[in-house]
Amino acid sequence: MTKWFCFTLFALPLLAQEPVRYELKFPNAAHHEAEVRATFSGVRQPVLEVLMSRSSPGRYALHEFAKNVYHFQATDGQGHALEVTQPSPYQWNVTGHKGTVVVEYTVFGDRADGTYNGIDPTHAHLNLPATVVWAHGFEKAPVSLKFELPAGSDWKIATQLAQHDDGTWTAPNMDRMMDSPVEISHYYMAEWKVGGSQFRMALHHRGTDEEAAAFARLCQVVVTEEEGVFGAFPKYDNGNYTFLLDYLPYASGDGMEHRNSTVIAGTRDLKDAAAQMIGTVSHEFFHSWNVKRIRPKTLEPFDFERADMSGELWFAEGFTNYYGPLTLKRAGLMDVDRFARSMGGAVSTVLNAPGRLVFNVIDMSRRAPFVDAATANDPVNTGNTFISYYTYGQALALGIDLSIRTRFPGKTLDDWMRAMWREHPDTQKPYTLDDLQRTLGEVTSKEFAGDIFQRHIYGKEPMDYEKLLARAGLLLEKRTGAAARSYLGAQGLWTDRGMEIAAPTLIGSPFYNAGIDRGDIITDWDRGAPRTQRDLDALLEKHKAGDKIHLKVDSRGGKKEVDITLADSPAMQLVPYELADKQLTPEMTAFREAWLSSKAVHPLPKVMKYCPLCRRSHPFEFDNCPYDGTALRITALKPGEEYIPDTPGGRGAPAAAPATGGRGGRRGGGGQ
Ligand SMILES: [Zn+2]
Ligand SMILES: [Zn+2]
Repeated sequence: MTKWFCFTLFALPLLAQEPVRYELKFPNAAHHEAEVRATFSGVRQPVLEVLMSRSSPGRYALHEFAKNVYHFQATDGQGHALEVTQPSPYQWNVTGHKGTVVVEYTVFGDRADGTYNGIDPTHAHLNLPATVVWAHGFEKAPVSLKFELPAGSDWKIATQLAQHDDGTWTAPNMDRMMDSPVEISHYYMAEWKVGGSQFRMALHHRGTDEEAAAFARLCQVVVTEEEGVFGAFPKYDNGNYTFLLDYLPYASGDGMEHRNSTVIAGTRDLKDAAAQMIGTVSHEFFHSWNVKRIRPKTLEPFDFERADMSGELWFAEGFTNYYGPLTLKRAGLMDVDRFARSMGGAVSTVLNAPGRLVFNVIDMSRRAPFVDAATANDPVNTGNTFISYYTYGQALALGIDLSIRTRFPGKTLDDWMRAMWREHPDTQKPYTLDDLQRTLGEVTSKEFAGDIFQRHIYGKEPMDYEKLLARAGLLLEKRTGAAARSYLGAQGLWTDRGMEIAAPTLIGSPFYNAGIDRGDIITDWDRGAPRTQRDLDALLEKHKAGDKIHLKVDSRGGKKEVDITLADSPAMQLVPYELADKQLTPEMTAFREAWLSSKAVHPLPKVMKYCPLCRRSHPFEFDNCPYDGTALRITALKPGEEYIPDTPGGRGAPAAAPATGGRGGRRGGGGQ
């Protein structure tokens, strides 16, 4: 304590730096430009190294934001030009200054999402790593930003930067600034409290205020339900958490987590797609614990100058991907069938994708810089070598949760998450892979954790999903139907010459086994010559697994003839027993109830959906009106229109009304 005190007294005068001041304006928003001016004062180094970030927290590929920067110039603060040299595409060295360097440039941005800037006459949607330069030696300096709004605009500023009376917005350092995206537009603002915590939603969209208010209520449900996993909300830096939402046809679908906010963009309108959009909210808000506070050591501090690599993304992203749909199910926003589809999709991929034999889930995570919003000019063999750490991690979270519930009655995955937050409450104490295993061992047993990590995390063995899921009355089975029958191992492009293979064929598939690969054109199938997918489906309809088909192929080496042996698709689906004509036992019902019921510690707001045709209200998890099949909405069509609440006795009254809102009965095998 004494030592620390002395160090602080000694160090403070040295560390105190004048704020880096940024001024941003948007005089050419119609053409997607912002003008940025950055002032660095008290510059001691003779050469000031000014940089544009190459990567952005939460993204793992290099984005080279410098590509959108031009008209770059530096002056000394009194209008005299300073010498600028460029040692790299994203760095400018400024010399000859007398302690002050003013940098000015134009930055272009026409992509409203969680990574880039979207500047146009409707908004300035800014991810600051894509917007502002920074300088070596000034990373710890406080920052202050000023935004000049277009004259006559009705724009307002929503961000988790701290607001001041003099019109400036501040952050204690560069890291915090970069973690505070900015939405400047004519947005709808909603605010609410859960317990002692304050939340806000700034929504830029083209729908009605009623839809916005209804969506804010959905966000409130998600926030309340997720608090239950951890027992409390994080302490937000400026006293509140803000959802920055852009639902606009010209936005780009995305979600990006931050410490005190999230940016979510989507192209669809709330009136049509609120039930899908709330899924992204559920994922991103979970990150305010998992990855923004429970932080892998590999990402702390974040390096803006290179691709950041983390072997823990299966936990940071994958477990978040598990809790996203789980939260919706627990809060009554999703029915058990849709929940099973989400989990079944992840399990099927992990069980069947050839990539599982190539990398373990840690090495899959480390490949994020090649796949996370990354682009490749050259063909890549991802289909045979990679499983997304989102998907793989989701399946692991599911398997580990069910294993803990089976082996350690009363314990759940939520206990592991809480233990992780207790031991790694914030970025000052980030975790390692060893910490993950040790904490799981504390919640369960050292042997259990060792076994899970050795076989399924350091190893490549899949968990025993069929058995684990059966305890909850969920049937993991092979998919059947047309999609399963036409499994060949690659997608084709249809031309008048035949079917051209568009991507590397999947290891173990009929095409792969016959030596067919990208660029091959299949002209003849036995005596047939299909020229559309429909023709081919009709041809395959007459065959079964094990049948041979003789193919004529135009390949790189010339014409060739090969036989393929048809096989059934290995794809699996997860079906609730009650939809698979199987008996759901009381034990299964109890297991499922303990797993999927609400864990909220504060009251969940009640939300409904409404039928625009018969004007009844229905449980939110319904997609369609059980009476007339109409797609349900989250609000009245016209403000003031009255809805008729449906009663439990009334529901199901018409003979045709299915119990699960239009998706009841035995699930077909051909769907996604
Ligand atoms: Zn995520
Ligand atoms: Zn209806």
